[in-house]
Amino acid sequence: MIALRQLSKRHRTGEIETTALDAINLDIEAGEYVAITGPSGCGKSTLLGLLGLLDTPSSGSYLLEGQDIAGKSARELAAIRRGRIGFVFQSFNLVEEMTVERNVQLALRYGSLSASQQRTRIGEVLERLQLSHRARHHPSQLSGGQQQRVAIARAIAARPALLLADEPTGNLDSAHGQDVMQLLRELNDEGTTLVMVTHSAEHAALASRCVRLLDGRILVDASQEP
Ligand code: ADP
Ligand code: MG
Repeated sequence: MIALRQLSKRHRTGEIETTALDAINLDIEAGEYVAITGPSGCGKSTLLGLLGLLDTPSSGSYLLEGQDIAGKSARELAAIRRGRIGFVFQSFNLVEEMTVERNVQLALRYGSLSASQQRTRIGEVLERLQLSHRARHHPSQLSGGQQQRVAIARAIAARPALLLADEPTGNLDSAHGQDVMQLLRELNDEGTTLVMVTHSAEHAALASRCVRLLDGRILVDASQEP
């Protein structure tokens, strides 16, 4: 599904250039569950942003489902991303001005579902995430665990083949963190390809493969028994 070859990303701030990713080679097959770990600043979020087409490489190549993403405009990248890739972030990234159901609907707005199909889909995912009774609430009226469940509902509403999660339990207490991990496990069992950045060794151990970064390079890439 994913093939990275000699992929590098350099960030420039004024005169200073930081190499966030340094000639990464990585293949991820459909259906895998990959944990990405490593110390702060080693390039985990940069890698996830590139995988999710939120950012473009400085050099090297990225094939997503055989499609070369080099040279694509932001608009083309958005079109490729839409419906294919879901994101979950540590900070939830919900829109406070919108209700829970409207936040989830954002993920469906450019898709092919009719208005009534969208309502059905939103109802299904909110039920799955045990949020049906919160559909008309706003994010700030919910606990952190519930907000992250809304973010996951939004991420999976369009049924993306690839789900990317950047420290999804980083702002949650351990019980809510475990709920999120359980849910990610289920989504992977149902066939969603999952790439998750985590600081937690315990959570990384739930994946079937662990990629450890250091200074923008892959230090270890190993399969493991989840
Ligand atoms: P991690 O998620 O592992 O903590 P990041 O991918 O966020 O690491 O960052 C990797 C390196 O790139 C760090 O040195 C960071 O300071 C730098 N970096 C990340 N994003 C930017 C940016 N937008 N502009 C400048 N430097 C950045
Ligand atoms: Mg990060």
